[in-house]
Amino acid sequence: MNPTSDVGGVPAVFLDRDGTLIEDRGSLRSPAQVVFYEETVPSLRRLQKGFRLFIVTNQSGVGKGELTLEEARWVNAHVVERLREHGVDILAVYCCPHQRSDHCACIKPLPHFLLQAARDYRLDLGRSFVIGDHPHDVELARNAGATGIYLLTGHGRKHQTELSGNVIVTANIQAAADWILTGTGAVGIPLLSTKEVGRSNPM
Ligand SMILES: [Mg+2]
Ligand SMILES: [Zn+2]
Repeated sequence: MNPTSDVGGVPAVFLDRDGTLIEDRGSLRSPAQVVFYEETVPSLRRLQKGFRLFIVTNQSGVGKGELTLEEARWVNAHVVERLREHGVDILAVYCCPHQRSDHCACIKPLPHFLLQAARDYRLDLGRSFVIGDHPHDVELARNAGATGIYLLTGHGRKHQTELSGNVIVTANIQAAADWILTGTGAVGIPLLSTKEVGRSNPM
């Protein structure tokens, strides 16, 4: 996608859920299983000053019968509500309940949900970011014309060797927020110019 095609839209940060905002403990069936990283709330508070915030999550456990769609939605709603209590506004949660073998249109790294969000919220994907702990999250960003930031929390260390191309790697969501807002804190690979990686708040 040509980033300039969205001139006039606002930038967003699309957040993976498990391993990014909260600990990845497999398929979560109830809010009691949710454990936030302590960096999550302060990082999102900073990011939302300049970016609309969304959650994009694959919950393939639904398709596999490990949890119900209602349980997945219950956990998602809890995450949003807890964040709201702490002053963080998530505009929407996009949840794919399918397994990869279903060949649905919405599973990450397919850009379906980001394109939908761009239409519904007038976003500029070229100035937007995806933050997540799986290579799919980085590929999602590429497929939507956004910038991906790969975290080493969650499954990040396990899958790090599967990354290809220039990828911005940070230790956790706090370092990802630092990178987006100030251009510092990346521990990984990229030596791209500010312009190339689509930073939206040059200071
Ligand atoms: Mg994850
Ligand atoms: Zn799907």
